[in-house]
Amino acid sequence: MTARFPHDPARRQAGFQRLWPDTLLGLMAVLALLPACTALQGIVRSVVLWAVVALLFNSRRVLLACLLPVVVLLPAALYYISISGTPPGYPLWLILFYCSFPVVVGYVRPVLPYLGLWTLVWVVLAGFYLSRPRRVVVGWRARTRMACVAVLLAWIIVPTVQLWRHLPPTRGGTENPMVPIHSRFDRAWPWSMATGYIAARRETRRVSEMARRISHEPIHFDPPPPTTPQVIVLVIGESARRDHHHSYGYGLSTTPEMEQVPGLVRFDDMVTPFDYTVGAVPVILSGYDRLRPGAVPGHDLVSVFNAAGFDTWWISNHPRLGPYDSVIGAYSEQARHIAYTTVHDGIMSSPVLDERMLPVVDHAITDAHGRVFIVLHLFGSHENAADRYPRGFASLGTAYDNSIAYTDHMLAHVRATLAAHGGESALFYVSDHGVRVAECTGGIPAHGDVRAAYEIPFYLWTSAAWQAAHPQAAQTARDNVHVPLTLAALPPSVLDAAGLHYGAADAGLSVLSAHPVHMPRIVHGDSTTNQNVDYDHSHDNGRCHIARN
Ligand SMILES: [Zn+2]
Repeated sequence: MTARFPHDPARRQAGFQRLWPDTLLGLMAVLALLPACTALQGIVRSVVLWAVVALLFNSRRVLLACLLPVVVLLPAALYYISISGTPPGYPLWLILFYCSFPVVVGYVRPVLPYLGLWTLVWVVLAGFYLSRPRRVVVGWRARTRMACVAVLLAWIIVPTVQLWRHLPPTRGGTENPMVPIHSRFDRAWPWSMATGYIAARRETRRVSEMARRISHEPIHFDPPPPTTPQVIVLVIGESARRDHHHSYGYGLSTTPEMEQVPGLVRFDDMVTPFDYTVGAVPVILSGYDRLRPGAVPGHDLVSVFNAAGFDTWWISNHPRLGPYDSVIGAYSEQARHIAYTTVHDGIMSSPVLDERMLPVVDHAITDAHGRVFIVLHLFGSHENAADRYPRGFASLGTAYDNSIAYTDHMLAHVRATLAAHGGESALFYVSDHGVRVAECTGGIPAHGDVRAAYEIPFYLWTSAAWQAAHPQAAQTARDNVHVPLTLAALPPSVLDAAGLHYGAADAGLSVLSAHPVHMPRIVHGDSTTNQNVDYDHSHDNGRCHIARN
């Protein structure tokens, strides 16, 4: 500018004033489109949708106001892309539904001051822009603009509707049709947030409905449930990988307390089909593998124990957004006593140390008079592992190893309470999945589909009274410690331990039965190329993903 109007400050200022607001608008448009540049699909669809907004309102002020929140979220979007490779969308919403707001705040807290400053700058600039009348976007006649809008919208909508109509017929039963629709827009930030939200809402509703539906089918026990008082505890671990347990041969002493427990049965070949919680926990509770073709959700353990007349407890240190919004929460709703140790009953709160659950567990066990079933859902070794244990456990090894040792301490406490209570009792412990500890993570443990992440610890402890009542089953469990297992063995094993038998139960999979049925151990990787891999014929590829041999 200074070169063009060197001798006329007034003209120069007028020119600058006319030009700079549009420079602001242009700059914001570029910033808004930046995260969509991870794929051609993204940039094209994003530009088209922005063009629809621009032509529809034909107001630079409206356009800038729409761009403002997108520009404000730019650092967050770029950070997300740096982790996952795609702009925020469906997976992020699932995380947001599953975690809670403060958990997310916990993740972004270190950068919050910079985000605040960034937001302030753009709000002030936008406020300046919006405070005065601005020009239209294009000087075309209304009819021409609307024709353009119609063409652009048709270009977006027609192929989407066609995709919807040609989805496989199974979509109503086992699939979420919004996911393939979303994948058309998964790079088109910020529109990926809208399609991702719809797909994620649909997904959580679908699974919640499924969990509610299964629990109302009647169950006919044969023989009738035993009436002896007993306490059955199922502890679901989190992100604990077998090869980091000293009890399974790890170098560091990560399991000192449970190793002291006489008669503990440690199964050493248990595999989970999923490397993430929402996939694995339904298998633990009902044997339901949502990626297995033709799989239908059976009864879940809590409902079966309810039907058998047990008092049922769900004690969890996981966040719960709401009974119908969280996949696991839908299962927990079946229990007669529900205790989320996170503040406000698990809604809008961050996880605390797992020991916060112990007083609740102790109360549930010591107050048990008849037959009681307790599910204890640990936060275990979940990211970030360093936040999962108190000071006393900080010196053993890496944060991940310390969290394993702390879980060992939790288990030993529950086991001791059960032993002190006396009578027939059984304690099952299994982790939902492992993690990548050092493989392709830069040393920070994180979810991932490396082979070792599918190998998990599985313990069974039973009281002396239980063993006296079931000597055959106690011996069979010891005989089965090297049998190849998957999480699908959990529901029949837990039912077996409680003496519950009914037609639909897959009793042949129980670890308390002689020669448990061996099925191909299909596990699910995170990409389309390794979605179904036979664990027993697999290896890790060079990028730390499980792959077919
Ligand atoms: Zn998990």
